[in-house]
Amino acid sequence: MTTTIIWFRQDLRLSDHPALQAASERNLPVVPVYIFDEVTPGQWKMGGAQRWWLRHSLTSLAASLKKRNLNLILRRGPALSILKQLMVETQGSALYWNRCYEPYAIRRDQEIKKYFTQQGIEVESFNGSLLFEPWKIANQKKEPYKVFTQFWKACLKGTNPDRPCEKPTTFVSFPTPLYSDVLDDWRLLPESPDWAKAFAQEWQPGEEGAVKRLQDFIKGGTLQRYHNDRDRPGCAGSSKLSPHLHFGEISPRQIWYAIHETTENTPGVETFLSEIGWREFSYSLLYHFPTFPEAPFRPEFNHFAWHKNPQLLRAWQRGMTGYPIVDAGMRQLWTTGWMHNRVRMITASFLTKDLLIDWREGEKWFWDTLVDADLANNSVSWQWTAGSGVDASPYFRIFNPVLQGEKFDPQGEYVRRWVPELKGLPAQFIHQPWTAPEGILQAAGVTLGKTYPSPVVDHRLARDIALKAYEGIKGKTDCSLSSSETKKSN
Ligand SMILES: Cc1cc2nc3c(=O)[nH]c(=O)nc-3n(C[C@H](O)[C@H](O)[C@H](O)COP(=O)(O)OP(=O)(O)OC[C@H]3O[C@@H](n4cnc5c(N)ncnc54)[C@H](O)[C@@H]3O)c2cc1C
Repeated sequence: MTTTIIWFRQDLRLSDHPALQAASERNLPVVPVYIFDEVTPGQWKMGGAQRWWLRHSLTSLAASLKKRNLNLILRRGPALSILKQLMVETQGSALYWNRCYEPYAIRRDQEIKKYFTQQGIEVESFNGSLLFEPWKIANQKKEPYKVFTQFWKACLKGTNPDRPCEKPTTFVSFPTPLYSDVLDDWRLLPESPDWAKAFAQEWQPGEEGAVKRLQDFIKGGTLQRYHNDRDRPGCAGSSKLSPHLHFGEISPRQIWYAIHETTENTPGVETFLSEIGWREFSYSLLYHFPTFPEAPFRPEFNHFAWHKNPQLLRAWQRGMTGYPIVDAGMRQLWTTGWMHNRVRMITASFLTKDLLIDWREGEKWFWDTLVDADLANNSVSWQWTAGSGVDASPYFRIFNPVLQGEKFDPQGEYVRRWVPELKGLPAQFIHQPWTAPEGILQAAGVTLGKTYPSPVVDHRLARDIALKAYEGIKGKTDCSLSSSETKKSN
């Protein structure tokens, strides 16, 4: 007997799963496995919010596989040794997976591919996570694009992404029981305190939840209004597909074709697909510049004198900065594991420019608290906001948290929802309570410094200090990063 092992990673679905489809076509027993490896990712091992998601997503995947007579095998430990063992237990003759693009995953997968190929086992990897493979999109000099608009134009100019593959319907299952860990033993859920108790009201992890989210987004009209509403945190103006995409419960190809086949090309559609394009761009950058999560892309930022201030960092993490839009965002993040994109930009600008705290501190906090924490999207977005990345928001573009709040949350619905101690304030003062007359504060039950913090910094002063700090590094150079063009696909 020979078996095909399907190694599930960031592709926790059955539809448009090229590795699974290829396995089903072999007509031999299929053994699906998920390996929980906490060592290989190093400092990027799964954060708390992601572990919550993974627990529920694996339950959903196991149930879907069970309906097709397949038992999902769960094992914990270094991937290579687990796979070696499983290969012996099942007399495996092939190992299939869909590709990951994190630098540690690429190294790991290359090692695994080399090892098993030498053993005469067929190892195949497939594209299950991206519309366009990063090594296929290059400029005329064969270099990766560093400007989003040029990158996306080049993507759209080429051939359409591959069509999603069919969900396989029949499998040959492995005839004898195989050992599997019990999911609960991995202790992925928080216990005391259970800080994720509100997550379940917000999310349905798993393929079914992902498909439902996409259908609601397309059919409920949000997609058509996306270009207007996506910047308004007080209304449900975006898809909230990010954790589903991160865990691969739905593929970008499924999204691409579902949208093209059911809707006309309106401004909402175009803007939405360009955000999917930002995901592709971020993956391409991480692939070509693997130090993105740890080092500034623009080397002069190695000289930036970031402040170390644990007290201010804590105030930011807790949503206690005294700037309502910032605090609302940080509390939405803590409570639901997700934050609106506009507010991610505002809170990130506040941390790196008003508080002058290193973007890597923010990146780490988001990594631990976001259900959609994604190495490519998170690192590229943090560097974009901090000004140290590619195609970055220039450093001197410092978001004014009051004006941003007034522009994107004019009636203050978002702030009232997440900072309830301010909910009695009129819209005029909701983004700057310190300017409200005493009588209005009293009527709203607000005592600054007591029921809600006074601002931890004065934005105008902080802005001047940030600009001076930036002047100090302008023109400085360092050894520049180079693209690893020689890298092969994993
Ligand atoms: C500081 C900061 C950190 C971020 N960290 C992450 C992260 O860890 N994981 C993550 O998925 N996104 C991250 N983003 C990007 C963006 O905020 C989220 O993808 C988006 O808010 C998710 O909500 P949505 O699914 O409703 O997005 P929609 O607006 O509906 O967009 C659809 C999809 O496009 C992708 N996308 C949208 N905006 C971006 C973007 N700017 N960059 C890359 N992909 C994008 C996402 O996969 C998203 O699900 C970050 C942004 C900032 C400013």
